Amino acid sequence: MQLYSTNNKELRVSFKDAVFNSLPEDKGLYMPENIPTLDAYFIQNLSRYTFQDIAFRVASALIGDSLPTSDLRRIIDDAIDFEAPVRPLDSGLAVLELFHGPSLAFKDFGARFMSRVMAALSHADERVLDVLVATSGDTGGAVALGFLGVPGTRVTILYPKGKVSPVQELQLTTNGQNIRAVEINGTFDDCQALVKEAFNDPELKAALRLTSANSINIARLIPQTFYYFYAYAQLQIQGLDEVVFSVPSGNFGNIGAGLLACKMGLPVKQFIAATNVNDTVPRFLQNGRYEPRPSVQTLANAMDVGNPSNWVRIMDIFDNDPEALKRLVSSYTVTDAETREAIRLLFDRYGYVACPHTAIAWQAADWYRAEHAGSYATVFLSTAHPCKFPEVFPDDIATRISIPSQVSQLEGREKQARPMDVDFGAFKRYLLDVS
Ligand SMILES: *Cc1c(COP(=O)(O)O)cnc(C)c1O
Repeated sequence: MQLYSTNNKELRVSFKDAVFNSLPEDKGLYMPENIPTLDAYFIQNLSRYTFQDIAFRVASALIGDSLPTSDLRRIIDDAIDFEAPVRPLDSGLAVLELFHGPSLAFKDFGARFMSRVMAALSHADERVLDVLVATSGDTGGAVALGFLGVPGTRVTILYPKGKVSPVQELQLTTNGQNIRAVEINGTFDDCQALVKEAFNDPELKAALRLTSANSINIARLIPQTFYYFYAYAQLQIQGLDEVVFSVPSGNFGNIGAGLLACKMGLPVKQFIAATNVNDTVPRFLQNGRYEPRPSVQTLANAMDVGNPSNWVRIMDIFDNDPEALKRLVSSYTVTDAETREAIRLLFDRYGYVACPHTAIAWQAADWYRAEHAGSYATVFLSTAHPCKFPEVFPDDIATRISIPSQVSQLEGREKQARPMDVDFGAFKRYLLDVS
């Protein structure tokens, strides 16, 4: 598999280069040189395969010989070891639950796959891979748990003191093994600035094999295609074959993977990009002007993104033709008040408890269905377990949230984090192990 940069289609890099240096120097994003089409027989018979078999076929087609087949099979079986069930709520309406992994969010797919790919692409004689990541919450947990116990890797997570939820903090700070947490006396932006400075520091670059676990890494995008195929397989079993996916979107990696799956031959009638009031993409689809704005804080904070980092990939999939894009992608913006109302409606109508991100996807899907009659199935993606956001639910709904073992087992564990001021010198000494 060779990749080009969206800013320079003449450039070619190997899969390994794209994985370890996720950002091209020209600031574009890496895309596969060829997007393969899966054979129609396979797609018509998806329901005969297991989730892991489907993931393996899709990944093999994309990655080709960049990894030995036996390595890829092992990585998939190990990384994709939890379910992604499609639960019907109503005739023609279902939810695809992507939160059954260790951090209870869909980012587990990307993080678990990427960590194992990085380990497999490293040679036995190479130094330990030092992964640095700054987090405002969800990404850090998925990365920490994604790399936990992966040989040849060490993860350092920077998070802002007092600014992540209690569950998130436990996910970041109670792992031990190859994962360590640094609690920065500052903001998320301070954490990010420290990580950035580390990547630019000549001494650190010489001493350590540094890499980032950035959300734009191609190895995080690829595994997110798997569950679109698997969802389709489950719909086939239910006798449905026309599907609309509604995707709660922030950086547009999740929906980008769906569009990639579609390009590979998955028959999807329509995608719905559901956003909170950070509506750069809905505005673009309406007036044709891409005008990013600073992000605004909302109830669905993992989607508080003013300038979605994966957007150029999506434009690239459509050869930068906004009309082609609009034929396949609809979008809706959901306010905080509408999100609370959607949480209520989902609960009252179906007895279903959805996290705020998921509720946004449902609301957008519901509006779409009201505007488009037809016998298609609508599947909205549930990106996180509601127990991660206890503060948004009214009491009668909150009491109905069950606490999964991934969280209950964290209780009583000891927090281990190195407190640190916003001080690059101190961070550098910590990384070099001289303090
Ligand atoms: C990251 C995240 C999203 C947004 O996904 P993108 O790929 O950035 O569009 C939605 N919901 C949850 C719970 C998330 O953690």
